[in-house]
Amino acid sequence: MGPAATYFRNIKDAVVSIFDGMAVTASHLVRRPYTIQYPDRIPVRVQDTLPFRYRGILDVDLEICTGCLACDRACPIDCIAMAIEKNAQTREITISQFDIDIAKCMYCGLCSEPCPTGAIHHTTEFEGADYSLESLIRRFVVEPVVAYKPKKGPEPDAAVAKLLERGMTYVDEWAQPGSDKPPAAKAAPAPAPAAKPVAEAKPAPLKPVSPTADAVKAGAETKDADSRTDGNNGTGNEGASS
Ligand code: SF4
Ligand code: SF4
Repeated sequence: MGPAATYFRNIKDAVVSIFDGMAVTASHLVRRPYTIQYPDRIPVRVQDTLPFRYRGILDVDLEICTGCLACDRACPIDCIAMAIEKNAQTREITISQFDIDIAKCMYCGLCSEPCPTGAIHHTTEFEGADYSLESLIRRFVVEPVVAYKPKKGPEPDAAVAKLLERGMTYVDEWAQPGSDKPPAAKAAPAPAPAAKPVAEAKPAPLKPVSPTADAVKAGAETKDADSRTDGNNGTGNEGASS
């Protein structure tokens, strides 16, 4: 190909590529925009439109914090600063400091996953801008508080029970891998079919059957397994309550 042909070919390529680019730009004139006017130019708050698993600024419900320090240990970049004191006699834990530096936080969620009660959790809040780094440290302890101790039965304090219910839902549903949609509400169990009148039932005559050796062996194994299971009861939650 001669120099003149190359020259005119380059001009043609330049014109075609300009029209290619402009076609993409022009197509956006007739497309529905993805962007929104912000803030408060939309009918609902942006926070209410965010996905189920959105990891926004962390919050802590101190009323259900056990002071276990799992969140503090899990944070890879030391955003969380906690201080606790343990009474050797009463085994009561007092939390005297619980700070989260949201300027450092990278919203990874590693702190909220191991929390046994869901006390530390992500919110859908993302507006944290302020004028100083110091003001971005969220301090959750105003004065030392006694840490929450899980009860053996239902939580008697209604306010704490409500927080605990939210926390456990968070732990069970949010902090687990899965869909970005909240799980569907569980359907109520179907009512059991009505029992047939006794008169209709015609039981077959029972024949005396002597148990086989296999059946006796299987029964003995089942009892052994049951007794082992009973022996393990009550140990599953010890770690959480310590
Ligand atoms: S979200 Fe991640 S970076 Fe932020 S406090 Fe929790 S563990 Fe640390
Ligand atoms: S209960 Fe949750 S928020 Fe409290 S120290 Fe343990 S992991 Fe952190």
